[in-house]
Amino acid sequence: SRPFPSPEGATPALAQWFAAKQAHPDALVFFRMGDFFELFFDDAARAGEALGLAVSHRGEHRGAPVPMAGVPVHAMENYLARLIRHGFRVAICEQRETPEQAKARKAPTIRREVVRLVTPGTVTEEALLDGARPAWLLALARAEGEWGAAWVDLSTGAFACEALPVGELPALLARLDPAEVLVPEAFSGLAALRPFAERISHLEPARDPAGRLAGFFEVATLEGFGSFSEAELAACALALDYVRRTQGGAVGGARGEAAPRLRPPEPQGGRATLRMDAATRRSLEILKSERGETRNCLLAAVDRTLTAAGCRELAARLGAPLTEAAAIAARHDAVQALLAAPPLAASLRAALKGAPDMARALARLALDRFAPRDLAAIRDGLERAEMMADALAERRTAAAPLPALLEGARAALLPPDSPRGELARALAAELPARLEDGNLVAPGYDGELDALRRMRDDARGAIAAMQLDLAQAWGVASLKIRHHQQFGYLAEMPAAAGEKLLRAPPPRLAGTPQAPVHRQTMANAHRFTCAALAELDRKLAAAGEQAARREAAVARHLRDLCLRAARGLDGAAAAMAELDIHAAAAALAADGGWCRPEMVERPEFRIRQGRHPVVEAALARSRGTMASGAFVPNDADLSPGQRLCLLTGPNMAGKSTFLRQNAIMVVLAQAGLFVPAAAARLGLVDRLFSRVGAADDIAGGRSTFMVEMTETAAILNQATARSLVVLDEVGRGTATWDGLAIAWSVLEALHDRIRCRAVFATHFHELTALGGKLPELQLAHMKVREHRGEVVFQHLVGAGAAEKSWGLHVARLAGVPRAVVQRAGAVLTALEQRAAGLEPLAEELPLFSGAATAPTAAAPQPPGAFHPVLDALESLNPDTLSPREALEALYRLRMLQ
Ligand code: ADP
Repeated sequence: SRPFPSPEGATPALAQWFAAKQAHPDALVFFRMGDFFELFFDDAARAGEALGLAVSHRGEHRGAPVPMAGVPVHAMENYLARLIRHGFRVAICEQRETPEQAKARKAPTIRREVVRLVTPGTVTEEALLDGARPAWLLALARAEGEWGAAWVDLSTGAFACEALPVGELPALLARLDPAEVLVPEAFSGLAALRPFAERISHLEPARDPAGRLAGFFEVATLEGFGSFSEAELAACALALDYVRRTQGGAVGGARGEAAPRLRPPEPQGGRATLRMDAATRRSLEILKSERGETRNCLLAAVDRTLTAAGCRELAARLGAPLTEAAAIAARHDAVQALLAAPPLAASLRAALKGAPDMARALARLALDRFAPRDLAAIRDGLERAEMMADALAERRTAAAPLPALLEGARAALLPPDSPRGELARALAAELPARLEDGNLVAPGYDGELDALRRMRDDARGAIAAMQLDLAQAWGVASLKIRHHQQFGYLAEMPAAAGEKLLRAPPPRLAGTPQAPVHRQTMANAHRFTCAALAELDRKLAAAGEQAARREAAVARHLRDLCLRAARGLDGAAAAMAELDIHAAAAALAADGGWCRPEMVERPEFRIRQGRHPVVEAALARSRGTMASGAFVPNDADLSPGQRLCLLTGPNMAGKSTFLRQNAIMVVLAQAGLFVPAAAARLGLVDRLFSRVGAADDIAGGRSTFMVEMTETAAILNQATARSLVVLDEVGRGTATWDGLAIAWSVLEALHDRIRCRAVFATHFHELTALGGKLPELQLAHMKVREHRGEVVFQHLVGAGAAEKSWGLHVARLAGVPRAVVQRAGAVLTALEQRAAGLEPLAEELPLFSGAATAPTAAAPQPPGAFHPVLDALESLNPDTLSPREALEALYRLRMLQ
């Protein structure tokens, strides 16, 4: 960023600002001045531009006015959200004492300190978070020649880590899609980080990561949490250090202190998940469409969850499906049980609908950055949890025991030390938006608060009573109690009555709290007070303040109550998310056409009447608006003996849809959901590869073909006999013969060497010749019909190779001018004639059998050449051309070449 002026000669407050800026040069400094956060110098200009704020000036520095922009404190969250979305980081510099305290210690200005750094990966406020997505902060570190990754969601307390080879980094980044990536400066050049350039922050690793972790979690050793590699420890400690730094150092330490509540890190090394690289995730559009939208992705199409936490967990499961049969079956059992018990599923979903986000509310409570609604969220969440536990318990006693996951969730829904009862009694029916607004505690919960509030609200009654008392005691009927700015409450009376009272105060009052004390003589009135009135005055002044303080104390007590029960609350929140997912999967299946996939260890793959959920949903949405029919289901069988499927057919016939739907089937099944098919038997997949759709790497600056080959190389190097590969048009990015040759050899490698299951779509009809050579290769084509001279795509997969190239028909359908299509027809005929002169392609590597077969000048041109340049030349009449026309014709010819 641009340089700031020298701090020399700054006023005391501005000097504080310079110090904050120096400590956080990458962040905008939000500098607290009373009811505003102010930004100065270049910060003011940058924030002003991003937020549309007016930039004015405040004072001078080194003879020039200081540019300034401000946002009101109460609206800060909204402004922060917008700045974070613009890619800014913000340092919050708060006032840490009152002006009186500063005066008392003879300081030139109030003490201010940066209490928090707001970054994309460390936000916890509702306005700054996407309810349905985790906000991961991912830390990367290196130790002992290995990479360690640790990821933290401060908004829920989730914390996990994994050691991995550098080659796996892109896949992890794609899976987590972190809001912020934290790396030591030295690694910022890592190629895998390039797409995340805007989200990178730097921090250098400190010593003794294990000790720092143990200190944070207040344990003597980390053994209880699992076993960690050095790289994992380094990454976890780096993440923790950053959290500490951004949260103003408040991490760990005494209970009750504002500190992020993180669960101990879970090492993921042993957890077997379906491996998918970045390209596969992009291609399958699991959590985002290829355009980066959250609509039109797999998650959006299958998500029937009712809570944000359920949706986050579903996203996590689709992003990391399982590979163990038993764990997958447990999830399927849960879905099946709910599908078989519609009343139970309905009660669960009724309780889930509108249920609050307990995990995130708890995180805000832990950070002491909570609002009354966060307490209400715990209360209401627990109430919903109880309803769900009841529904499950009822079912359990009536029939057979519940499947393991449902039973586990049932138990977790009822946490020990549940603060629900107390919260229900403590919280007012109508809650204020902010703690400072008061009135969040219900009347009757806290006697002291009730008394203070009565006092505060009853000032008028208390004054009237006191006025009566004093009038009687002092014998002055005309006495009035009035409030004065300077003296507080005083008893006022006409001059005559006042003088009488001065001369002869009632003797029996002497020494009592009602003994009159003269304060002021006015032209026609006297003002008195007495100990009782002064006491009432003091009480009334303090009551409002005390009520507010007492209320804050009650809020703290409620917060502590929640934090003490935090583990149980976490468990209940997780159980609700778990039930949400299974009930949602059952709801999806109940609509029909979804089945429980049979998972087997053998590398089978058999799908009857499979569908693509996203394309199906899109077709359903557009029905009526366009002449588009219903989705056409297709079978697939990649079982041993026919593991590879070579699919041909014109563009738009449905090839990529078929490819993707088979890969998606695996993602859904292994994530624990049912699948969109009439029946499915799937052998467990260890790695899934999908290369369908755009392969551009514009940001990375690589050509399409280079990207395609890099991704193909990844498949050939990593796929195993248990993998599933779906590949579209390998070799399309280069010259025909190159491309065909590469596609050919890739297909052979998949068949002979890797022996995985695969669907391979191609334009190269020549490849179908391999059908007879590779025993486990089946040929399939997309069925197309011609109807009254138009092409009709049936979207149906048929056995055998496509018979005819339909490219020209598609071109006509797409509106390519008739003359061009006709011309293409002539070209096609000529090409086919020429190809017929070549050797049959079914021979072993016929393409390389001799230089003469290469389609270069060496190939003999058939008579009646069709080259467009020759055609164009023929149509020229040099005798009639002007010199200028001749020049233009020459240019045209060059273009045709
Ligand atoms: P290709 O890969 O062969 O060019 P796509 O798979 O992209 O074709 O499909 C083109 C369009 O055809 C899709 O956008 C979709 O609208 C429609 N489509 C594809 N498969 C089906 C199907 N099984 N049933 C109905 N419509 C389909």
